[in-house]
Amino acid sequence: MESGKARGISPRALFCALFAASPTTIPHMTELLLKGGRIIDPATDLDRTGDVLVRHGVIVALSDTPLSSAENTFDCEGCIVSPGLIDIHVHFRDPDESGHHQETIASGSAAAAAGGFTTVCCMPNTTPAADSRSVIDAIKHRATAAGLTRVFPVACGTIDRRGEVVAPILELVEAGAVAISDDGDGIADSDLMKRILSLVAASDSVFMQHCQDPTLTRGAAMNAGALATRLGLGGWPREAEELMLRRDLTLNRSIAARYHAQHLSVVESVIALREAREAGQPATGEASPHHLLLTEDACGDWNTLAKVNPPLRTAADVEAIKTGIADGTITVLATDHAPHPAQSKETDFASAAFGIVGLECALPLYREALIDGGVIDWATMLAMMTCEPAAVAGLDRLGLGRLEIGTPADLTIIDPDAEWIIDPATFLSAGSNCPFAGREVRGRAIATIIDGHFTSRQIGPSVEGRAVVR
Ligand SMILES: [Zn+2]
Repeated sequence: MESGKARGISPRALFCALFAASPTTIPHMTELLLKGGRIIDPATDLDRTGDVLVRHGVIVALSDTPLSSAENTFDCEGCIVSPGLIDIHVHFRDPDESGHHQETIASGSAAAAAGGFTTVCCMPNTTPAADSRSVIDAIKHRATAAGLTRVFPVACGTIDRRGEVVAPILELVEAGAVAISDDGDGIADSDLMKRILSLVAASDSVFMQHCQDPTLTRGAAMNAGALATRLGLGGWPREAEELMLRRDLTLNRSIAARYHAQHLSVVESVIALREAREAGQPATGEASPHHLLLTEDACGDWNTLAKVNPPLRTAADVEAIKTGIADGTITVLATDHAPHPAQSKETDFASAAFGIVGLECALPLYREALIDGGVIDWATMLAMMTCEPAAVAGLDRLGLGRLEIGTPADLTIIDPDAEWIIDPATFLSAGSNCPFAGREVRGRAIATIIDGHFTSRQIGPSVEGRAVVR
């Protein structure tokens, strides 16, 4: 949903932003022809079989009839050619002066590329937190050096994410932050939140809220209910999410900042977001793979891999999120990729860290929940992974999230029927905390391309011999 505000950003600033986020270490390929794939571009309602020609990193031709051979040809028959996938909610733990994590922008970028993602937005709960120009600069620098994914930083709403002092939001946006969030925590203080929303509106950025009323979740480890009681674990009430979301939407009524609710987990949040959107608020929301496929039952044997924030809920909540996706209330799919070292999970449930890794298995999990589940089709699902998240984070202004002549050749080649088994031991992410280990899934990104260069190519049993570059 658009705010309707003019987007005052100069062509030169656009170019600089895109250039800064462009990987530089990939070998240059002048010309690349993607042959015979099902080209889907949700942004332009394109869905047809044909060829895509890339020259000097830009899409120069789309054709129903075969184009003549180029310098490099990639056979896409039986595959989907999509705009590069975008995940606006990942944790790369970099910088990390705490020494508690192993993921870096380099390993996270490799994981993103392997999962089919060309662009990610990384959350600011780093050490130090992303509340200064120097940290934003460091993230951009490391992302460019890693050279595998466009990484756009999200900056803090408050200094050190403490929820006490408003961060220099205008300066942080000017430095390159594409969104503002204290993710990991919600902004509890209503007056502070109001001021932050005003600054976000003034900077034409977006606020991404982690909706959690902290006064209701002290000591909470999993969804409040009979199962938590039986396991002797602190219960996380569903109201903790709905209360903050409804408060924000109420505060934002007169401010009309772009507002994005992260990782929705309960029925009531979907209803609140639907009402706000129907009333014309520039509010959006996202769903995560685990909240679409798992319920609190996954915590039943004290499985710490199923400990996430917000917690896994009930089957009725899963259905409500799917309904919200089907009716367009929820427009974005995001992983909340949150790597943790093994020892953070190999402990008792109450002490274990919250979070799972998602980048390398998100695509088939979304397929299972949404396409196999009869909720939406491929084009709609890809919209939720390309043009819709691009619009939320303002990346559409850089030409990202679409597949059109003249746009950067960020592309994902998907074998929709590749069958494989999720094995976290093979992940390029430094984290392997994934409750989907051993799951048989369908659908895989077999190649990821940025600016016309391959950042990942999967050669597995199901795709070997099909995807050949010559
Ligand atoms: Zn969060």
